[in-house]
Amino acid sequence: MSKITENLNQVRGYIEQAYQAGPKQNRLPTLIAVSKTKSQEDVLAVWHAGHRHFGENKVQEAQKKFLPLREQGYELCLHLIGPLQTNKVADAVELFDVIHTVDRVKLVDALLHEMHKQQRFPELLIQVNTGKEPQKSGVFPEEVPALLTACIDKGLSIKGLMCIPPANQDPSPHFLLLADLSRQLSLPELSMGMSEDYQQAIKYGATYVRVGSAIFGSRL
Ligand SMILES: *Cc1c(COP(=O)(O)O)cnc(C)c1O
Repeated sequence: MSKITENLNQVRGYIEQAYQAGPKQNRLPTLIAVSKTKSQEDVLAVWHAGHRHFGENKVQEAQKKFLPLREQGYELCLHLIGPLQTNKVADAVELFDVIHTVDRVKLVDALLHEMHKQQRFPELLIQVNTGKEPQKSGVFPEEVPALLTACIDKGLSIKGLMCIPPANQDPSPHFLLLADLSRQLSLPELSMGMSEDYQQAIKYGATYVRVGSAIFGSRL
């Protein structure tokens, strides 16, 4: 067994454990293997171990890596977990099945336009900047209801919330905040938790965990 497959199985085991130990208010979390900067060969190692969900943070890199695989018939579910610029929306709607980073009305309008044009409807999540960090994308927690209402008014369905807690801090308050917000707004999907903290995120109800280095090894 390759190191990557071994890592994958270990992460799967820890997810199951954390889920069983937690409140189980949601389904068993979906593991997203975050393959940014990693090769197509690494992706295939994970695919051949039966894994189907992959995450990328850049549209162009994802196109290069995954379009050829799709053309060869590999079935997979692709998640955009990085910021989306409006000039990349057409490509993103064509390629991704879930977009975790909706964070402004201008992007909502561009997505609506493209989704209707292409008749392709990726699942959408709102990214929340729970730590209010200036360098980070996402709307502030108090701005989520207004953005959600704007989406609903325009006929765009939002499935959940996503956050990236500040580095070098206990992420728990951020997971709790996001979970509370999603409950208040009746949004079923919660995208939170990365290699360092996905087990914690699951205890707060994560439905998607985004794990890169714990599967593929560190990114240099
Ligand atoms: C890179 C990235 C991850 C995965 O990070 P790891 O620490 O390698 O697990 C998860 N979410 C987002 C948004 C990322 O950009």
